Amino acid sequence: MKQRNQRRERPKETKEQGEARAAERTIAEIAWVPKTEIGKKVKTKEITEIEDMLSTGSPLLEQEIVDILMPGLENDLLMIGQSKGKFGGGQGRVFRQTQKKTKEGNKPNFATLCVVGNKDGIIGLGYGKAKETVPAREKAIRKAKLNVFKIKRGCGSWQCGCGTAHSIPFKVYGKCGSCQVTLFPAPKGTGLVVDREIAKVLTMAGIKDVWSKTLGQQKSKINLIKATEEALKALTTTKIMDHHNAKLSIVDGRKQKKTEA
Ligand SMILES: [Zn+2]
Repeated sequence: MKQRNQRRERPKETKEQGEARAAERTIAEIAWVPKTEIGKKVKTKEITEIEDMLSTGSPLLEQEIVDILMPGLENDLLMIGQSKGKFGGGQGRVFRQTQKKTKEGNKPNFATLCVVGNKDGIIGLGYGKAKETVPAREKAIRKAKLNVFKIKRGCGSWQCGCGTAHSIPFKVYGKCGSCQVTLFPAPKGTGLVVDREIAKVLTMAGIKDVWSKTLGQQKSKINLIKATEEALKALTTTKIMDHHNAKLSIVDGRKQKKTEA
């Protein structure tokens, strides 16, 4: 019965609570003493843009860097677990609960997968596990912040050609285990024609229209999300000739001009 209460969804925080949390964060930033070279540069305001920080190529080891550079970062947990108990269980849950059998009894472990993003070209994913749900979520958020990367968006659909970066510029593919994910550019208004959990990731990345094809064991959400992450990284690693940048209206990372709502 105790575990049942633990897994209940927490209520949405009120505006006051949100403001209090934001104030708490700014205090934490003032008290923060950076340890890495890149952290010192962020503290002294030598680096003020997240793109500059990512292009340095140095490892990102302090989550405060991301907190300062990206104050509006949102986070979401992905459904990687399933409920247990009466009526067969099996309902989707954000925490994956596993157990180890010991002399003292069952020792549960909780794991969760978190996605952070600004809904504008910056995204990160993190997997955290702990003996309780709250620290697992905190670990996942921290790891997601340390794993941020930028993606390229564009309009690669031959049916559209609208010149805004609402979709992806070309077909991308990613694989993890048996899960294979292919994302295709789609015309404006299509929406995200993908698995619900992948759609959460793409929304965080700021992609609005996409078609997809998936192969393999898709019930394993962890592998499915990892395959998606790989596909999104392929957007950046694929080499593009200069004249295609304008043709596919490619935007790298955040949009400079806020032309599109
Ligand atoms: Zn378009």
